[in-house]
Amino acid sequence: MALKGTIEVNEMHCKGCALCVDACPQNVIALDMEHLTPKGYHPAMLISEGCTGCVICAVVCPDAAITVYREAKKPRVKAA
Ligand code: SF4
Ligand code: SF4
Repeated sequence: MALKGTIEVNEMHCKGCALCVDACPQNVIALDMEHLTPKGYHPAMLISEGCTGCVICAVVCPDAAITVYREAKKPRVKAA
């Protein structure tokens, strides 16, 4: 089963360079063209499900604007 993840973009740091958009292997990041950050950039955003939490976007971001969260594994339940 594929890992699930999600990202949070810090709008105070994102400058809309789109490096994360190009780097995401799942193609689930885009720039939000309808929104501007306080600094006047179109920020990166998650656009659909499918994030695996691979962290590539956070690694390539030159401004450390992305935090990646991974879904915690559910504890296994023993069959009786
Ligand atoms: S963690 Fe990986 S899959 Fe998720 S948005 Fe970032 S690059 Fe894409
Ligand atoms: S790589 Fe970083 S600064 Fe560039 S668009 Fe993505 S989150 Fe914003």
